[in-house]
Amino acid sequence: MDKPLVAVSACLLGQKVRYDGKDKYSALISEELAKSCQLIAVCPEMEIGLGVPREKIQLTQVGSEIKVLKINAPAVDVSKPLIDFALQFIQQHALSGLVLQDKSPSCGLGNTSLFSVSGSQIGTGSGLFASTVMSRRPSLPVVLASQLQSRQDVSYFLQSLLKNQ
Ligand code: SF4
Repeated sequence: MDKPLVAVSACLLGQKVRYDGKDKYSALISEELAKSCQLIAVCPEMEIGLGVPREKIQLTQVGSEIKVLKINAPAVDVSKPLIDFALQFIQQHALSGLVLQDKSPSCGLGNTSLFSVSGSQIGTGSGLFASTVMSRRPSLPVVLASQLQSRQDVSYFLQSLLKNQ
């Protein structure tokens, strides 16, 4: 049987794609999870052309909508490119699961800071890449990097992938 195809935030696999040119390498994901899964790296912010280094972006509540705006240039709205990329990505790849970096305005799931238009933190939410994928594939097994801290965590995630196949 083919190994399950799992998309992983590229910074977790050691790619230096964060806004500051750094990565968030996780050996548990890059080495342990990779023994049982076919991993595909994805950095939504690079895919929409933001480049490295880049200005920080943040989740912002604008009326009833959550948008992703540049912190120092809030007129620059990258929401639509992120959503369009997410839709294209799930169409192109028959994913069995998803591993996401915490707290990112693109990849985070539930624990990303949400700001008002005036810049005050008003809560937390999900990054637009993550929320778009999950809205289209709600049963897709997904885990945050903070939830994969031991071999046992990896094993639980693998079980959820197999159950879902
Ligand atoms: S969290 Fe997501 S968008 Fe941010 S650097 Fe990592 S892969 Fe790219």
